[in-house]
Amino acid sequence: MAEFPTSARVVIIGGGAVGASCLYHLAKAGWTDCVLLEKNELTAGSTWHAAGNVPTFSSSWAIMNMQRYSTELYRALGAEVDYPMNYHVTGSVRLGHTAERLDEFRRVAGMGRYQGMDLEILAPEEIQARYPFLETHDLSGALYDPYDGDIDPAQLTQALAKGARNMGARIERFCPVTAVRREGDEWIIVTEKGEIRCEYVVNAAGYYAREVGKMFGRDVPMMVMSHQYMLFDTVPEVAALSAETGKKLPLLRDVDSSYYLRQEKNGFNLGPYEENCRAHWVSKDDPFPADFSFQLFPDDLERLEWHIEDAMARVPLLGTAPMTKVINGPIPYTPDGNPLIGPMPGVPKAFEACVFTFGICQAGGAGKVLAEWVTEGATEWDMWACDPRRFTGFEDENYCIAKGMEVYGHEYGMHFPHYAWPAGRGKKLSPLHDRVAAMGAQFGAYNGWERANWYARAGDDTSDAGAQTWKREGAWFGAVKAECEAVRDAAGILDLPGFSRFVIKGAGVADWLARQITGKVPKIGRLGLAYFADDKGRIVTEMSVARLAEDMILLITAATAQAHDREWLLTHLDYGLTLSDETENWSCQILTGPKSREVLAGITGADLSKGWLTHQFAEIAGRQVWLARVSFAGELGWEIHTKVGDTAVVWDAVMAAGEPLGLRPFGMFALNSLRIEKGYRAWKGDLSTDYTVLQGGLGRFVDWSHEFRGKAALAAEQQRGVSKQFVTLKIDAGAYDPPYMSTIWQGDTVVGEVTSGYFGHRVGACIGLGMLRSDLGAAGTELEVEIFGTRHRAVVQEDAPMWDPENARIRA
Ligand SMILES: Cc1cc2nc3c(=O)[nH]c(=O)nc-3n(C[C@H](O)[C@H](O)[C@H](O)COP(=O)(O)OP(=O)(O)OC[C@H]3O[C@@H](n4cnc5c(N)ncnc54)[C@H](O)[C@@H]3O)c2cc1C
Repeated sequence: MAEFPTSARVVIIGGGAVGASCLYHLAKAGWTDCVLLEKNELTAGSTWHAAGNVPTFSSSWAIMNMQRYSTELYRALGAEVDYPMNYHVTGSVRLGHTAERLDEFRRVAGMGRYQGMDLEILAPEEIQARYPFLETHDLSGALYDPYDGDIDPAQLTQALAKGARNMGARIERFCPVTAVRREGDEWIIVTEKGEIRCEYVVNAAGYYAREVGKMFGRDVPMMVMSHQYMLFDTVPEVAALSAETGKKLPLLRDVDSSYYLRQEKNGFNLGPYEENCRAHWVSKDDPFPADFSFQLFPDDLERLEWHIEDAMARVPLLGTAPMTKVINGPIPYTPDGNPLIGPMPGVPKAFEACVFTFGICQAGGAGKVLAEWVTEGATEWDMWACDPRRFTGFEDENYCIAKGMEVYGHEYGMHFPHYAWPAGRGKKLSPLHDRVAAMGAQFGAYNGWERANWYARAGDDTSDAGAQTWKREGAWFGAVKAECEAVRDAAGILDLPGFSRFVIKGAGVADWLARQITGKVPKIGRLGLAYFADDKGRIVTEMSVARLAEDMILLITAATAQAHDREWLLTHLDYGLTLSDETENWSCQILTGPKSREVLAGITGADLSKGWLTHQFAEIAGRQVWLARVSFAGELGWEIHTKVGDTAVVWDAVMAAGEPLGLRPFGMFALNSLRIEKGYRAWKGDLSTDYTVLQGGLGRFVDWSHEFRGKAALAAEQQRGVSKQFVTLKIDAGAYDPPYMSTIWQGDTVVGEVTSGYFGHRVGACIGLGMLRSDLGAAGTELEVEIFGTRHRAVVQEDAPMWDPENARIRA
């Protein structure tokens, strides 16, 4: 037997499906000097008892990509590593009970088609041809996914492990990691069998991820749910059909009743996601166990009764078979239900690939993504949806439990664009919270901050049900229009707590920043937008830059980007420079509209004649403010930045001065409408690592005369010409605005995708920002955008904002 390894390039902690896939993909990338450590036997965590369903369906583009990749990998894996597996590609039928559900299916079918998958919408009368034993009288239709199926999770894990071992990687079983420490640039991984010195480490510890995270001083945002499925004995009719066709029934998902039903041998497997769900290991009398290997929770069928009855009514044959077994196992959840794959925030050369709720169907893709993070420091696909840095540290235990239970209870829920999920709210409140609430604010959470989405007027429907629609128009629509018109005609004010802000100081800070961004560093007293590219020239992030002094720069960025951008800056910071995160100390109000100068004139001595993209310190109501002459809304305006404690006094002064002039508050929905009319991109929608700076149409932010990260790649692309390019489309969109990744068509060919779509109230049209094959980018080109399954005429616009193309209003 080989000796215990004392060094390795990468150590992976955890040998479930995900850890094994990480090892396999690292080895495949040529990094064979890797060791996986498993405290028990492989699969001992959640993997051994998983049902093994392998769907491709997701309403997230990135997750669908990952799951699609898994299905492709699994189809070939058994033969590749010579480890035959039970992988049944049965297809699936996903039932829809409502028109909204069918819209969701159509959207996902569109995304699937763009990823090369042929998902099919079935009319009610077509469903039984796919699934004969089904009651269909109350259905509106279904989605047929021919790639869906089920795999034996233990065999999958063993096959990945075998593949990794074949390439030279190592696995140590019954080898719990008990501690880690940093020595110089290396990690020392302490186990009961000895220590391993390594360069990189990966936490793939499944539902133990928080315990392993603690060894690194990292608080992993997660909780654990109990999830059950039930096995039912042989049903003669199912056996007969399978004998006749040589196939299993497709996997059935009744998503509006929240369960899946799968053929298991010649019987069934029924797995509900119940709303009256149960979290585990969340209280003192139910502590987290030191070891739960190959264990289950006691059966708890009472809470599933409704689903069992519903399934028996849907597939009456189910009621004829005795239940033979119940599996009740732990399943970890992050607050948004997506896993953590990527850099471990704040910890050098450490990564996470853990907290998977669907770790069997995602293991394949997750291994690929993790291996790219480790070996290349970046991923092929933008994976923000799974990036650990999307959580920023406010997610305490109560929040994780509340959100985890909400996500579990709505595992198949629809994510409507104007709906704000209610759990875990009120984590961070603006000093103006009560004031704006009293004015009718309807809030949404942004990195935990409560911000007004819109302001309800007397009689507006503010019920939950009112926002459960994909349609553009709902209770908010008229109110948002009025808010946009106020901004256009007089002035609006948006309370915007939670902007991320970093102050970087030190000699040479401007030279350092110049090497980080594609464009120029603004002069003292000036502001600018800066784009940070990776080595491939892809868009990592966008920040506003204000030069406060020769050796001091302020960077302001999106609330959700706080951990991501801080880490990017710290990773690349030059010796001698210091970064302080000032996010929690400041707040911001956006005052914008043609009368905003008049509003400010009466209450501040600031020089309001200073032009666009300038900034200055001034006083309002005796409090110091920092005024930045910019407007994401595309009108004359200032961002009024205040110390948190001064915010309310300043707001009151601005409101008192502004009300006679028509000033009124506006919310995030209006801001989205206003910014899209100006073609201003949104981070992680329009701006992501899926696109280069040049594809993103940001050439005017590239200063070729200086050296910066990504320059070589961008210069090469500049010479070649971009394959796709950013465009603005005016869309005759009917009742819906196009969601993210709606496809753009020319004739029968998909030629691009919409990265954000919304209605512009000032121009009175639906606008799509997106990426289009570059030979089609000429203004006036007629195309179509597929929105929830229907194609709508779209016209490419001039390469200029649709609202105020000369920027005359913003410069006023
Ligand atoms: C009833 C049920 C049904 C499910 N059905 C499906 C399904 O149909 N499809 C699907 O995609 N997902 C399903 N899941 C979810 C799926 O089981 C998990 O998402 C998946 O198994 C997670 O894999 P993993 O490798 O991340 O974690 P795990 O399988 O939990 O592996 C983590 C490993 O880390 C090891 N470990 C922990 N701490 C240490 C340490 N200190 N040192 C060394 N090793 C350590 C553990 O022993 C464990 O083996 C289901 C879950 C349940 C409960």
